[in-house]
Amino acid sequence: MAILSKEDLLSLLNGKSREILSLMSETSLLRDNDIITYSKNVFLPLTDICRNNCGYCTFRKDPKSYNAQILMKPDEIRGIIEKANSFNCKEALFTFGEKPDETDSVISSLEDLGFTGMLEYLYFICDDTLKNSRLLPHSNPGILKKNELKMLREVNASMGLMLETSSQRMMETIAHKNSPGKDPKLRIATIENAGKLKIPFTTGLLIGIGETVTERAESLLELRRIQDKYGHIQEIIIQNFKPKQGIPMEGFKEPSLAEMIKMVSVTKLIFPDVSVQVPPNLNKDHSQIFLMSGADDWGGVSPLTPDFVNPEAPWPEIEYLRLITEELGFKLQERLPVYPKYINEKFLDQEILKKINEIKSKKI
Ligand code: SF4
Repeated sequence: MAILSKEDLLSLLNGKSREILSLMSETSLLRDNDIITYSKNVFLPLTDICRNNCGYCTFRKDPKSYNAQILMKPDEIRGIIEKANSFNCKEALFTFGEKPDETDSVISSLEDLGFTGMLEYLYFICDDTLKNSRLLPHSNPGILKKNELKMLREVNASMGLMLETSSQRMMETIAHKNSPGKDPKLRIATIENAGKLKIPFTTGLLIGIGETVTERAESLLELRRIQDKYGHIQEIIIQNFKPKQGIPMEGFKEPSLAEMIKMVSVTKLIFPDVSVQVPPNLNKDHSQIFLMSGADDWGGVSPLTPDFVNPEAPWPEIEYLRLITEELGFKLQERLPVYPKYINEKFLDQEILKKINEIKSKKI
């Protein structure tokens, strides 16, 4: 793999037109096949209560808000999972606010159901999904301790946590000043602990939340350091900030197309061993350019549920994705929430492996 210094990355990330084109052509040569993947998923936001309060968030709700989802109950979850089964989805994505059980209304709903905390409930829901559906759980519950990751590993095919940025400085800015869980030290510790436990892992960076180009380069190098040490990062999401009405960062500009192209290309350049993903629903008009810049995965696409984190941006139809993928000469291919190279005993629990084999042999 290319060994690039921070100075090399900075020069590429600051490149102008001619350099951008040559960067794109370099990353396109790194492809060893023409396959672009996606995961057919269902999105289950178990609660939208969160202890953090990020300047760009539209997902989190105040517990007293009339439309707050305090806790999705097992029956509701099972109903959605059943529907997802009929759509032939393979991934149950459990994403929700961080440490919601620090909030009274959440803990009291959990206690009503007989659970002492959110992670215990998540384990129960993942286990239920694993045993009673064709879907594989992928959980994204925020920062976790090593023993919490170890517990959830038993019932997840893969897990995720966006690094977003490795910049400590961002903790003083509008983006993260009210979000203790966005402390990069805590997020890096979670990603590293997942590596120690051999959990196939999804992470990524958020672009345009006030970070500098130097901080983007440093964030990429930090992920590279972790991947070199543990080798468990299966995909990196390069997600562009989108200003939305009513958020504290409403007046911020989103990153330009050129900035995003450079980020995607540079990410692929230093991560030829990892899938690079750009959310298609946040880049409707120019998704194709990211495939030409080195992205090779569309991420989770749901035929059933909206993107609750970006509700204003509906998922494109899978047939539309196929069209824009094939127009560039690539082939669209469905994948599981865990990438093929991690489907083995080193990375997955026996029960998960058994279920993957059943899914592959169409026994379930
Ligand atoms: S951690 Fe996630 S859900 Fe919580 S406020 Fe930040 S962006 Fe929103």
